[in-house]
Amino acid sequence: MADPTGFLKYPRRDMPKRPIDERVGDWREVYADVDPAERDADVSEQATRCMDCGIPFCHSGSAGCPLGNLIPEWNDLVRRGDWEAAAERLHATNNFPEFTGMLCPAPCEAGCVLSINQASGGPVTIKRVEQAIADNAWERDYARPECAEVITGKSVAVVGSGPAGLAAAQQLTRAGHDVTVYERDDRLGGLMRYGIPEFKMSKKRLEQRLGQMRAEGTRFVTGCEAGVDVTVPRLRERFDAVVLAVGALNGRDDTTTPGRDLDGIHLAMDHLVPANKECEGDGPTPISAEGKHVIIVGGGDTGADCYGTATRQGALSVTQLDQYPRPPTERDEERSPWPTWPYILRTYPVHEEGGQREFAVGIERFVPGTGDDAGHVRHIDLRTVRVHKDPASGRREVFPVGDEVRRIPADLVLLAIGFTGVEPMRVLDDLGITLTPRGTISCGADWQTSAEGVFVCGDAHRGASLIVWAIAEGRSVASAVDTYLTGTSELPAPVHPT
Ligand code: SF4
Repeated sequence: MADPTGFLKYPRRDMPKRPIDERVGDWREVYADVDPAERDADVSEQATRCMDCGIPFCHSGSAGCPLGNLIPEWNDLVRRGDWEAAAERLHATNNFPEFTGMLCPAPCEAGCVLSINQASGGPVTIKRVEQAIADNAWERDYARPECAEVITGKSVAVVGSGPAGLAAAQQLTRAGHDVTVYERDDRLGGLMRYGIPEFKMSKKRLEQRLGQMRAEGTRFVTGCEAGVDVTVPRLRERFDAVVLAVGALNGRDDTTTPGRDLDGIHLAMDHLVPANKECEGDGPTPISAEGKHVIIVGGGDTGADCYGTATRQGALSVTQLDQYPRPPTERDEERSPWPTWPYILRTYPVHEEGGQREFAVGIERFVPGTGDDAGHVRHIDLRTVRVHKDPASGRREVFPVGDEVRRIPADLVLLAIGFTGVEPMRVLDDLGITLTPRGTISCGADWQTSAEGVFVCGDAHRGASLIVWAIAEGRSVASAVDTYLTGTSELPAPVHPT
């Protein structure tokens, strides 16, 4: 039985971070190394803040966890110090809780009833409890391989090794299928490997899980592009089903602003991928922010990753631009009694490390240097803008406000303005896959694409989204594939195709 007054006894305490001066000097995770016993005692107090609500909005409803994580159950187990049972309950709904613990923006905390009233001290630190359970599980060997008891004789190819592909592969392997994951890059992990910087999540967490999956029997083939290095006829001949978890990495470009073709202007992933490869020991990135005035266009997660990367590369200045107005930093109690997430300002640890953010601004033009420098961006002209979203069509329009134009220095501009769907791929053409108008892969209610026996999950289906949705879709598609192959499935399906 939870302590209904725990939140009155203990203030909310987030995961402690390393000092800013220290962490901007390296690529290690921003969070402090804490003695495990101290961590467990502190997190136990945080878990005590959970009231075990009759209707736990943290793991149900539109604002809660798409995985259906059993949050009040494991909060109570942590409160009582039963970390092994907590690990079992956490892994019952989430294959990779350390990935979500480090990377998810926590819709569960927005859904927590304690987020409604600031006098409560804020929502339960669900993410922190989740991360501590996962760390504890690895330290005490509670995250052991779960090998299938029965082998089905069926085989599945999973194309892509991001969180959706890995979740699907692990579920299908545990259900007794022979699963091979194909990854075109030289290392496994998809966006978690080359999109997410080391300071946000150490690759050792990824390696731990990959080790567990190998021990369970999942096979991995890297440096192998499906449709090219392993052809579609070969995939069809060798496997009974195929899961496409190829992500949605077609970066949105700025095709209208004058000066876009100047040197020094890049898509965000063109900055992040080589920077992350450098961290893996692959040699210096060709797009470093060192000694440069850096402008990041776009106020989302990818922009924040560029922000922290540019800071660590030694940028002269870092400025992140957002077309939307600055949201309030706290809920406006006068205006509404309801939680305002995501309408309050989202900040990331990187925003504490220097640099600045500008809101309600748009780029009028990219300005070149002079003389020999005339082909390179050196400034941008900014003006105040207002964004109007048509409620009927969802179309966004951006209008200038006033006549004032400001010029600020810009030696490196990174466009983090979203993604437009899956990249062109031979495997999609050769399979005859139908795309949606949004550039994602269309599927039926059973996650099956226009190609018989070929399924889709994650960003490739949903469009660029949260890691927690990728894992939820990976788990769900595994259930659908299991049903397709065997006629029935006991695997959970937490979400359905939209
Ligand atoms: Fe606990 Fe908050 Fe979930 Fe209620 S909504 S069960 S207080 S985490």
